[in-house]
Amino acid sequence: MKGLSQLYNILFREYGPRYWWPASTPYEMMVGAILTQNTAWANVEKALANFEGRLSPQFIASVSGKELARIIRPSGYYNQKALSLKALTGWFEKYSYEIEKAREGEGQALRLELLAVKGIGRETADSILIYALNKPFFIVDAYTRRLLFRFGCAVDDIIGSYEDLRLRIENNIPRELKLYNEFHALIVEHAKRCCRKLPLCAGCPLAAVCCQRILEA
Ligand code: SF4
Repeated sequence: MKGLSQLYNILFREYGPRYWWPASTPYEMMVGAILTQNTAWANVEKALANFEGRLSPQFIASVSGKELARIIRPSGYYNQKALSLKALTGWFEKYSYEIEKAREGEGQALRLELLAVKGIGRETADSILIYALNKPFFIVDAYTRRLLFRFGCAVDDIIGSYEDLRLRIENNIPRELKLYNEFHALIVEHAKRCCRKLPLCAGCPLAAVCCQRILEA
């Protein structure tokens, strides 16, 4: 796959460390990963603020589904997400709500556990694995597909299933948690600043090496 190291190095030089994910605890990170599904981060922040300092696995386990849905309403799909938060918290309970215990698990096994939780798909699972559980799995979101396609990765490299693309990326970069952590955050930053739906190629730090393919993958 073309130039992933070059892509990473240029973005890191341009934006520096991103200190991602924006959360004060690993549990809040996991909650945010569910709340951000199909909505902008600004709405997640409103939903998180509605917890008024009560956000904890114990609170979510004990609060009624109706009240939880009311709290997270700004994030959209709130009834569905309330069920997902309850299910995620049920999974976390088997580790006594202790992130260090969960982190002792093997990455693939944890991934399968998360994928079995209602409302957690691959992108959400991989986000939780990297940013809460410290397991290196590459997140293949829409920003990633768009950037890799435009950058010039072969079409065969960026189409296909989530798993195909994740494995192809992972096979072309060192399996290092810090690299995976930063790479995804840099892609998100770049997609917001330059490689938007309508790309701002003039002044883009990747312009000299990017194929600038304009068709979406
Ligand atoms: S040069 Fe254009 S298409 Fe390429 S990464 Fe930058 S903004 Fe995206």
